[in-house]
Amino acid sequence: MKIDRIETFLMHAAPPGQGGWAARNWLFVRVHTDDGLYGIGEASGWPRVVETAIQDLTPLLIGEDPQNIERLWSKMLAAMMGHGMTGVVGAGAMTGIEMALWDLKGKALGVPVWNLLGGRVRDRIRIYAHAHTTQAARGLVDAGYDAIKTGGIQNCVDTVAVIRDEVGPKVDLMVDVHGPPWLTTRDAIALGKRLEPFDLLFYEDPVAPENIDAIARVADAVDLPIAAGERHAMIWGVRELIEREIIDVVQPDTGRAGGLSQMKKIAAMAEAHYITMAPHDGSLGPVAEMAAVHLLATIPNFLILEHLADDVPQRYEVMMGQPVIEAGHILVPDTPGLGIDIVEEAIAAYPSETNVSFPEDTYDYAYVQARQGRAHWLSSEVKPPPSYRAGHIF
Ligand SMILES: [Mg+2]
Repeated sequence: MKIDRIETFLMHAAPPGQGGWAARNWLFVRVHTDDGLYGIGEASGWPRVVETAIQDLTPLLIGEDPQNIERLWSKMLAAMMGHGMTGVVGAGAMTGIEMALWDLKGKALGVPVWNLLGGRVRDRIRIYAHAHTTQAARGLVDAGYDAIKTGGIQNCVDTVAVIRDEVGPKVDLMVDVHGPPWLTTRDAIALGKRLEPFDLLFYEDPVAPENIDAIARVADAVDLPIAAGERHAMIWGVRELIEREIIDVVQPDTGRAGGLSQMKKIAAMAEAHYITMAPHDGSLGPVAEMAAVHLLATIPNFLILEHLADDVPQRYEVMMGQPVIEAGHILVPDTPGLGIDIVEEAIAAYPSETNVSFPEDTYDYAYVQARQGRAHWLSSEVKPPPSYRAGHIF
């Protein structure tokens, strides 16, 4: 069995004109072999650029045995060396291909991917969804969810307060401030202290991810579990966060962390430090989410998976083998490979559009805006219902 062709499928994954959402694209990958089998993967990490990276990598893989996943991954990494550090773009390209190789291997052997990754420690994956109003939070709880994340910094404290009041103490709440360049480290600490009374499952990306010592300062000062890692790639990207035990929850993105093997290794590194894993999913499409489900079925220190409970219509059109959700969990499928396939005609109905977010007009392009809009999140003068800036929920 040899790889003889690799195809990519790029699509727009947002309703038009909705702030940062408009930049969302999905990229699916299909790896074919000379005996007629194929595997499906998905890559994030800047999909329109990753598509070109995959096309660049393809000649390296033609004629190779697709079963040698670790070897092919190492070959791709070495081939990119001359371009500098890999980042989420290079890792995203490797992710899409590597995920497709796992799907292909599972189909060839007639077993689910979770079986190839060590077997199950659980048969359903706990998920959380997003809510920014009390009504949305109530709707999720009524639908069976027992974990909810809210995000952004506008009215953050008031939003958490009203949602906690609405759902009661037994529902896990999380806050994601998205590693914002518009928040200083000291303000992230002040915000975290205001959030301490709400007993969060975690406080996510309190500062921008480039400065690891800044995250460490927040973690030392705030009495909440700290989650981070969605914008890092590969085992080396999260090594310091884990080895220095800065974070409590590591959040690699299944579409851009480097592949399922890298995710499994990150989980093992975290396990040795009593750190749990809660992968990022917000910008992903349905293929990468299903890959996460297979992976997380095998990981002892899995905490919870991000899930978009009410995504754009195309999510449910472009993939066969949609996840089955029961009482806030995705059931782990028993079908070979990832148990999914893509629908080409549906993908073609959503041609790719812009793939970068445009900041609001008020943004001054400084990477850190000291004390920007503090009243929006620290002052009690801004009362619920909270406002929310569309396009930044993940
Ligand atoms: Mg996040």
